Amino acid sequence: MVAALAATDAGKSVLLLEKLDTAGGNSTLSTGSLPGAGTRFQREAGIEDSPATMVRDLLRTSGPHEVEDLVTWMAESSAEMIEWLVDKHQVGLLLITDYKHVGHSVPRLHAPADRNGANLTADLLRACEANGVEILTRTPAVGLIEEDDAVRGVTVELQSGQSRQIHAGAVLLASNGFGNNKELLARWIPEMVDTPYFGAAGSTGEGISWAEQQGADLANVGAYQGYAVVATDAGDILSWTTVELGAIIVGPDGKRLGDESVGYSAFAETVASQASESFTIMDKRIYDYVARNEPRFVKIIDLGCVPQANGVHELAARIGCTEKDLARTLETSTDSASGSAADEFGRTDFGQGPLEAPYFVCRSRPGMFHTQGGVKVDHHARVIRSNGEPISGLYAGGGVAAGISGQTGADGYASGNGLSTAAGLGYLAGRHVGSL
Ligand SMILES: Cc1cc2nc3c(=O)[nH]c(=O)nc-3n(C[C@H](O)[C@H](O)[C@H](O)COP(=O)(O)OP(=O)(O)OC[C@H]3O[C@@H](n4cnc5c(N)ncnc54)[C@H](O)[C@@H]3O)c2cc1C
Repeated sequence: MVAALAATDAGKSVLLLEKLDTAGGNSTLSTGSLPGAGTRFQREAGIEDSPATMVRDLLRTSGPHEVEDLVTWMAESSAEMIEWLVDKHQVGLLLITDYKHVGHSVPRLHAPADRNGANLTADLLRACEANGVEILTRTPAVGLIEEDDAVRGVTVELQSGQSRQIHAGAVLLASNGFGNNKELLARWIPEMVDTPYFGAAGSTGEGISWAEQQGADLANVGAYQGYAVVATDAGDILSWTTVELGAIIVGPDGKRLGDESVGYSAFAETVASQASESFTIMDKRIYDYVARNEPRFVKIIDLGCVPQANGVHELAARIGCTEKDLARTLETSTDSASGSAADEFGRTDFGQGPLEAPYFVCRSRPGMFHTQGGVKVDHHARVIRSNGEPISGLYAGGGVAAGISGQTGADGYASGNGLSTAAGLGYLAGRHVGSL
């Protein structure tokens, strides 16, 4: 959608194909948080930032990987893109200043006011319609049209069941990764095949396979975003703001599992390797703050998934562990949160400080959110072969493209990395196509 806006801004005509009933995919399920380094919103909030700082932050989180240049391209275009979305296309994005996100040294994520990705995609769809983008839903692309060593369009399956060829000057693969494809997961991320998938149904990886067949080079294929705390009985995410404000996470035995401050993605690996479910414990200050700011949290509360426990005895009963073990966990974490030294797991940041009764607890389990590996692209989002040459006519963004979250595993993911390459590469692709 971002690519469609940029290309139609430049006078091109764009057809957007969506195989499901509505366009939006994982982006709709996300919190809609987009990183932007050096935006005017940051300046207005007195926050100093720059693309170089963003690059440093992201590479520190991800460690070395196979598409490090992409981090620079995303950081350098991020502020311009966010301001363009807000100013030219009235996409509602506000800088989140109340806490820093995983992997970012300064507040730089820009999100819809209620941090609901559905509002981001609704705004993008409205803007696409206003810009004259033609949108066909329930119309899957089923393959690429290749002529003379170049991609010249796609074959689609019409609702009638017939297939039809659609020729185009350029094709952008924006069909996300392979989180919902067990076969591809078994090939590239076998350790996550059995972890429940909580992303959108459409992420079945065909875009990556088609590009691979065209000779695309692949990178970072073992990387993914996990999420440590999907509220088990709600089937929806428990906001990580709870942890950033000081919540702790324990296993069924009432003992902590590790340093929660590594982030929701990295901590998903920690949970998955030790327990099938976990319990996030917060206090009333955290509960009230997140409920005030995040309607999605209120939904989970309304479903009865964050019950109150007036003291350790009640809390232990809710978790099903012994009161003695839980009391010890709470005492130790109170000591750690009161002091400045790192605790036994290395956590130093306990947000608002020690937890105080009454407590609130959410039963949760780790989930697979989206894959971060895919095809290599150049600085115009053109898909490239292993010799670095672009495949003529073929672009990729978002989950189809190799991401910026490290080479393997979930611990290289910084908040916003998913939408960064979805919107960011879309912006570069749309502008490049617009310039042709
Ligand atoms: C719960 C959750 C929270 C998240 N929160 C964040 C966040 O706050 N910030 C962030 O940066 N990232 C977040 N992510 C990750 C982020 O959502 C994804 O990385 C990003 O949305 C990927 O965008 P995309 O455009 O590649 O794919 P999508 O947004 O999934 O769009 C792809 C679309 O293509 C369609 N499609 C697939 N195949 C075909 C086909 N053959 N023909 C036609 N259409 C097809 C799909 O149905 C889908 O609608 C989150 C993910 C989840 C699951």
